[in-house]
Amino acid sequence: MSRDPQREARLIEKKIAGLRGRGFFPKELLDLIEEAMRLQRDASEHVHIPEISREVLAPADTTVQGAPLLVRERFIYDEDNVNTLFDELLALALRSWGPLADGANHISSALASGRLVKRDIFSAYLTADETFFAPWRHELDNAPMLLDFLAETSLVPSLAACAAKVAVHIPTEHEWNYGHCPVCGQHPLIADLRGKEGQRYLTCSFCRHEYRAKRLACVFCGEEKTEKLQYFSSKDEPGYQVHVCESCKHYLKTADFREYDRSSIPVLDDLESLTLDILARNKGYGRPTLSAWGF
Ligand SMILES: [Zn+2]
Ligand SMILES: [Zn+2]
Repeated sequence: MSRDPQREARLIEKKIAGLRGRGFFPKELLDLIEEAMRLQRDASEHVHIPEISREVLAPADTTVQGAPLLVRERFIYDEDNVNTLFDELLALALRSWGPLADGANHISSALASGRLVKRDIFSAYLTADETFFAPWRHELDNAPMLLDFLAETSLVPSLAACAAKVAVHIPTEHEWNYGHCPVCGQHPLIADLRGKEGQRYLTCSFCRHEYRAKRLACVFCGEEKTEKLQYFSSKDEPGYQVHVCESCKHYLKTADFREYDRSSIPVLDDLESLTLDILARNKGYGRPTLSAWGF
C-alpha cells in the first residue's frame, strides 16, 4: 500500500498529541513510541527487499482455500536495515527511564558478550520461537517485553516491505473469506471500518498488510452464527467497539471513526484503546496477538 510519508508523519504527530492530552499513558512511553515510529519511518524509506516472483509463493489452488502466500518463516528482511534500526531502538531504550533503561543495559551487555546474537533474535521472531523469547522475558523481569519490542519494531519496515512485494500477486478480483492475513497467515491486530457501508479492514499483526474481511464472522475461528457474535463499547472510548466470539472466546477491537474527525493509524489505535483490552479480559475474553508494541 503506497502512502504519503509526510502526511503519515503529521497524522502520527496529531494522534500522539491526543494521547498525551488524555494523561493516561506515561510521558516516557509516548516519547519512546513517537521516536520509534520516526525511526521506523526513516528505515521504511531506505529498506530494500528484492522482487518476489510468483513461483516462490503458495500455488493459487491452495490460496483459494485460505493458504497464505508466504508463511512468516519465509519472509525476507533487509539485514543492514534491521540491524541499524535495532541499534537505534536499543540506544533509545538506554536513554529512556528506569526499568526500560535497565533492561536495555542488560540486553547491551548480553550482545557485547556474545550471549545474545542479533541474527538469532530476528530468526526467532520470524519463526515465532517462544522457547527463545520466554527465558529473556523472565530475565528482563522489570521490562519483560523489551526484547519482543526491539525484535518486532526493528523488523516491521522490512516485513511490511516484503508483504507489499508479495501482495502484488493477490488477484484483484480475489475475495478473501478468512480472518487471517492473505499474505502471511497471521492474526489481525485490530480492525477498522471504512466507507459508507462500513467495510471491515484488518491490519495484520505480523506483516502489517491491510486486507478486507467479512464483517459478520469471527476473524479467529470463522464463527458466523450471529448469536455467538457480540460486541460492546465503552463511553470512555468513543469510536471503538470490541467484537467478541462466544465460540473461541477471543475478541477483536474495531475502530469506527466514520463519524469523527479522526484518522485511523492501526498501531496507535491499538494503544489508544488499551482500556478496552482490560475490559475484554475482565469479561473473560483473550486476544491471540500482542499489541503492536510487544505488550
Ligand atoms: Zn500478514
Ligand atoms: Zn471465534
